[in-house]
Amino acid sequence: MKKAEATGSCPQCGAPVALAIGDPLLSCGFCRTKLYMVPPAGVFSYFLSPAEEPSPDQETCFIPYWRFRGFKFRVHEQKNTDCSLVDTTVPAPEVFAGLPLLGMAPQLGAVRLNPERPPGLSMLCNPSKALKKADARIEMLHRDKPVLEGIMGENSSLILAPFEIVRNNGQRPSLRPLWGPKALIHLDSRQEEALSHLMRQERQADCIRFLPLICPECGADLPAFPRAKALLCRVCGRIWSLGTSRFFPKRFSIAADSIHMDMIFLPFWHFYLEIAGLGIEDRYSFFRQIFPYKNPPETWKDEPVQVVIPAFKINPRLFFRLATRMSSTTTEFPPGASDTSETIPRLHMVNFTLEEAADSIRMVLLDLFRNRKRIRNLLLKTPVKVKGSQLVLLPFKKGHREYVAVRSGQAVPIAAIELGTKL
Ligand SMILES: [Zn+2]
Ligand SMILES: [Zn+2]
Repeated sequence: MKKAEATGSCPQCGAPVALAIGDPLLSCGFCRTKLYMVPPAGVFSYFLSPAEEPSPDQETCFIPYWRFRGFKFRVHEQKNTDCSLVDTTVPAPEVFAGLPLLGMAPQLGAVRLNPERPPGLSMLCNPSKALKKADARIEMLHRDKPVLEGIMGENSSLILAPFEIVRNNGQRPSLRPLWGPKALIHLDSRQEEALSHLMRQERQADCIRFLPLICPECGADLPAFPRAKALLCRVCGRIWSLGTSRFFPKRFSIAADSIHMDMIFLPFWHFYLEIAGLGIEDRYSFFRQIFPYKNPPETWKDEPVQVVIPAFKINPRLFFRLATRMSSTTTEFPPGASDTSETIPRLHMVNFTLEEAADSIRMVLLDLFRNRKRIRNLLLKTPVKVKGSQLVLLPFKKGHREYVAVRSGQAVPIAAIELGTKL
């Protein structure tokens, strides 16, 4: 069995189930049940087990930390963009911002899914604000200053970290982490108030809801790929994106004439863009700016600027290369979108959402124009508007160790694609 990040229990048979943190899919190896989980308040939370069992007379509390996992991008003036995986945590209530950091989630120890509403929800800071803070902390470790940086493709959930409450007569209580650092943390009056708020929370009635993993259209079982953000029904050919409370039909486009059984389709987000102030109005001028010596089709003068970005996770370096290469080929993307496809393609999983991909557009553009200083400088200041987007499934042929794009010839190592399903 693969190393699990968290454990939960099967609501059907009670068996322990391995889960990826933040993943709404549960599949039980004992009773074969496959379920989709809807967490209370839309956020998954997990209890971190204390490093040692607290004694029964010890008073303990759990403080929520935002946990983020995603890609960190740093775009530089002179050298190549660096990208790396980040896995980081930040105390979630603003008032506890100064608490020691949990560190990387995989090193934390046993983590168990909390089926109830997490404590202190009303005190939590907004996750995107918390992410900015976490990012700033990572930036402090670097000496060079990038022209643009950020974390994208993040998955946010809450880790509930255990603390012992130490009370001394007549004084404010202190906290001692029951994990990692052992030093006492003295609380100020605001923190003391927040602590009593956390402790006061009565048990909430709302729990995780479990929905059967079946296609809303035809009732067939949907495949349960851990960490998938959208699932393809192998019976009716519809793609369902996994919302926080239900499945949404996802329209997609596919070159129907080119489906062969030996092909694998990789999903991409196809964006139509409007970029102001660069003199790049259409797909033709966009392509000419990248390759001044090449002649794109005249018809591209009537098409908007467009980029394609993988809808699947892959190591950051390849993700970036694939986005820039696939966006700068003369490939024609299948037009229009439909709800289903007559022939059911072999589809690699979608585990990178439209929103996550949209966040990476500027990075991809900066990389495309890495040798064009003037355009890059303008790109940093100019607004890039998304005028439209759709999911496109592009055909790849299986080679010895790689998938090769049928139209553009772009190769992707199969091993990297497989690893990406675990990111
Ligand atoms: Zn079960
Ligand atoms: Zn179906």
